[in-house]
Amino acid sequence: MKYLDEFRDPSLARALLGRLNSAAGRLDRPVRVMEICGGHTAALLRTGIHSVLPERVRIISGPGCPVCVTASTVIDAAIWLCGRPGVHVFTFGDMVRVPGSHTSLANSAREDSLHIIYSALQAVEFAQQHPDATCVLLGVGFETTAPTLATAVTAAAAAGMGNFFFLAAGKLTPPAMRALLQDEEQVIDGFIAPGHVTTIIGAHAYRFIGEEFKRPCVVSGFELCDLLESLAMVIEQIADGRCDTEIQYGRSVTFEGNRKAQAVIARVFDVAGDVWRGLGMIPLSGYKLRSEFAGLDALGRLDVPAFEPHEPHGCKCGDVLRGVCMPQDCGLFGIGCTPEHPIGPCMVSSEGSCAAYYRYGRH
Ligand code: SF4
Repeated sequence: MKYLDEFRDPSLARALLGRLNSAAGRLDRPVRVMEICGGHTAALLRTGIHSVLPERVRIISGPGCPVCVTASTVIDAAIWLCGRPGVHVFTFGDMVRVPGSHTSLANSAREDSLHIIYSALQAVEFAQQHPDATCVLLGVGFETTAPTLATAVTAAAAAGMGNFFFLAAGKLTPPAMRALLQDEEQVIDGFIAPGHVTTIIGAHAYRFIGEEFKRPCVVSGFELCDLLESLAMVIEQIADGRCDTEIQYGRSVTFEGNRKAQAVIARVFDVAGDVWRGLGMIPLSGYKLRSEFAGLDALGRLDVPAFEPHEPHGCKCGDVLRGVCMPQDCGLFGIGCTPEHPIGPCMVSSEGSCAAYYRYGRH
């Protein structure tokens, strides 16, 4: 298949649904499959796949939305920086509406201090053109975003700029999957893994899921037929008693991943423990600047105070991000909390679980 409409072809979708039903018919128990990508969360709801699932198959959403899992203290730090004279903060669009401990960047930042960017290099260009400005790039995102963030840091360091700083908050997906598998409140029988993240890191990164936790994992694309095929592959594995890492999204993903992108990331970032909103501290799950780039570290160089995390009263985003409750289980869903007036982080981005369920689900 080559063209988009072929991945949405109704007759192929029906055939794949038949394959999924047939595999589900061989299950000896109900199963829960977690997707851990905000793009998948939205696509599964938009295509209505939840409504045609076999009775024994349930899909739950994990912490796959990068702005949702960014610690509230990072947002608090960005808000604090926006309030400093001469400081300019640069971030991708979704981030500005995400609530920190008490407010969001959109609601509190001075208009001239906050810049929404489409490319991390825009922050470097601005810093070059405004040598008197102190410029901070908010480094939020998963492995897919890490190469562009690393490129911006490298460019700023190479130019010897003294007014460019980086607030490191990038995250790695596999350690979060490990943490979820170790969560005693959680039952996950298999994973649908993120296609774009895996294009960078390679499907080898998920081998531990089968080897240590005896669960299957299938890397999926984002179209209707991609998702149906991936689900069928996961359920077939469970029915067969297999726990392999498989690639459905073969037009983009390999087991090795993108070696060039991996090298760009490794040149700039070390991996260290990091705090995920809703999940807490996860070992080896965050991108931190390597020591040779310490001079660009916004937290250390700009004397940012330590902030205490605080979550909005009544918000269940932590449980939603862990997949132990559904967005509709939150008492604020669709009442006090909507995409226009988000209370928790999961209602902001189109990839946030609450926003996706609000937009496409029945409530
Ligand atoms: S509905 Fe709003 S308040 Fe409730 S869990 Fe979702 S984002 Fe948080």
